[in-house]
Amino acid sequence: MELNKQESFKFYQLKPVVSDWIKKVCSQDLLLTTALENYGSPINIHHVPSFKNNLLSFKSIFDSFGLKNKIYFARKANKIIAFPEAAFRLNEGIDTASYRELAQCLEAGIHSKNLLVTAAVKTKKLLALALDKEVAVVLDNWDEFHALQQMAFERNKSIPVFLRLSGFVVEGKTLHSRFGFSLEEAFEMVKNHFSGPSALVHLKFVGFHFHLNGYSIPERAEALLQTAALIKRCIGLGVKTQILDFGGGILINYLKSEKQWSKFHKASKKSVLNQGPEITYQNDSLGMAVYQDSILNEPLVYPYYNEVHSCDFLKEVLSYKDASGTTVAAVLKDLDVEVRIEPGRSLMDQAGITVARVCFRKMDTAGNLMVGLEMNRTQLRSSSADFLLDPIHLPQSKVEEETVAGFLVGGYCLESELILKRKIAFKSMPQIGDLFVFVNTAGYMMHFYESEAHMFELAQNLIYDSRKNNLTTTV
Ligand SMILES: *Cc1c(COP(=O)(O)O)cnc(C)c1O
Repeated sequence: MELNKQESFKFYQLKPVVSDWIKKVCSQDLLLTTALENYGSPINIHHVPSFKNNLLSFKSIFDSFGLKNKIYFARKANKIIAFPEAAFRLNEGIDTASYRELAQCLEAGIHSKNLLVTAAVKTKKLLALALDKEVAVVLDNWDEFHALQQMAFERNKSIPVFLRLSGFVVEGKTLHSRFGFSLEEAFEMVKNHFSGPSALVHLKFVGFHFHLNGYSIPERAEALLQTAALIKRCIGLGVKTQILDFGGGILINYLKSEKQWSKFHKASKKSVLNQGPEITYQNDSLGMAVYQDSILNEPLVYPYYNEVHSCDFLKEVLSYKDASGTTVAAVLKDLDVEVRIEPGRSLMDQAGITVARVCFRKMDTAGNLMVGLEMNRTQLRSSSADFLLDPIHLPQSKVEEETVAGFLVGGYCLESELILKRKIAFKSMPQIGDLFVFVNTAGYMMHFYESEAHMFELAQNLIYDSRKNNLTTTV
């Protein structure tokens, strides 16, 4: 087998944004190789100060608009308990999506008022725990409302509830969602169950909630304005809305260069139409559908490059103007509501990396270089068709620098088991024992889809302490 012979190839770089702590960790081979020896490959490394900075910078945006605010970290984006604990220490909150997410937060000593349940399916067991500890629940449908009301009555417990909203109309179209109540239904519910002498005693209405699919600024702003109108109608019923929670979906930016991002897209479209060289494994279309000579849709990938992201994204939502020229922030301030968000991914920005070891190199039947990593695809996976960031290659021995191209493959016994679908350029031929670092994986990538197929163990989660310069294990 001849590994070094490669025909000339074209490759498209997607250089990630890399924060200082990651650079520092990557400069210490011994720290990483020791951790891999101790815990196996791959490992997930987390950095709590990055999380805190992200959270505090969102707060500063709300503060600058003079809005009462509280940030609830959507912990489904990452499993380790250190992030909820850090949010609690700042007296912010955690949005939980399952019984175990909630139970673990409670066991960690996080107060009920800093917790929220938004789970898509709320089992009796989950509702019982929420009732027992008086944790606020976001109601999504009538069955949930009746179940919670019944259980609260039986236990003679009272808890705060939010109503989840959907069906916002933007540019004449209803935003589709499987979640929540329509604005009209929510109004009826407030009227019939949360106002006047017939108001329920066990369920205390505290506010409205929504979480929109996608990453549109105008859609979020319009939904906020429509919720504000609903809040005003409720005032007419004598019901005060204390809190308006507009969920997550704040865009982040993963990549350094807009140019690389657009070049990659142009090339991938050409290649899908067979007008250019393959840049993904077996010319994977990344979700683009082709009909005759045209591409019908954009690739189904996260928009990894964004000019307007993080704090600027939030600022633009709040600065959006209604038809009369009043900003969303001014409308919300006038209502005297506490404004909340539930960011997942955006609080995880730069808060984690995944490191794996090279196990083998080989050629496939088409002559492509395959670099086998001691990890599997579910350990670097989100709903995006591919993770479009170049990994960092850390050679563990001195070899001649010569760029080679190939694919990173993993441990599941599937032909489709690619860690990255994109062809990657390596600055030198990867050697057995070399490390690959995947940057910015804490949000969804490392945990959301990880599975134990083949009875592989889940990756060990570690926390990096910059001051002590060490790694410790965590759950
Ligand atoms: C997933 C989710 C979030 C977090 O979304 P991000 O895009 O990660 O910010 C917030 N709220 C609800 C209800 C969710 O389902």
